[in-house]
Amino acid sequence: MSELRRRGGGRTESGAFLLGRREGQRRFFRAAVFYDDLDPNAYSSGVCILYADAFERLWGFCRAHGLQVLADVHTHLGDSFQSEADRRNPMVARPGHLALIVERFASDPVWRHRTGVYRYEGSHTWTNLSGWRARRILNTGTFA
Ligand SMILES: [Zn+2]
Repeated sequence: MSELRRRGGGRTESGAFLLGRREGQRRFFRAAVFYDDLDPNAYSSGVCILYADAFERLWGFCRAHGLQVLADVHTHLGDSFQSEADRRNPMVARPGHLALIVERFASDPVWRHRTGVYRYEGSHTWTNLSGWRARRILNTGTFA
């Protein structure tokens, strides 16, 4: 969260891919790859935008470290609801992918139950798992 805050500088959104491993129903976080490390211009429009080159770097990193993309996370100036652009443009359009959104550019304090948690179901549909459910998901890595 502090890296998201720092990289956005209180002026732009910032984001990262959360990498790790899936074991059964659980997801274990290992490493974050920030969008601006994949593309220095990722935030230049004020919102997070990545092009094909950035994804090539991401997949290369995953291969090299034996990790999977578990989720992406990005900040919003305001609340943690998905924008129309967020809904229409999943960072990873794979069913089961999670998109997390952190309000107020991730400024302190960051509350898990106020973090947007959206699971991609395919065909541009999402399940909203935000609220107290988000807290449990982020604590335990499971949807149970
Ligand atoms: Zn957004």
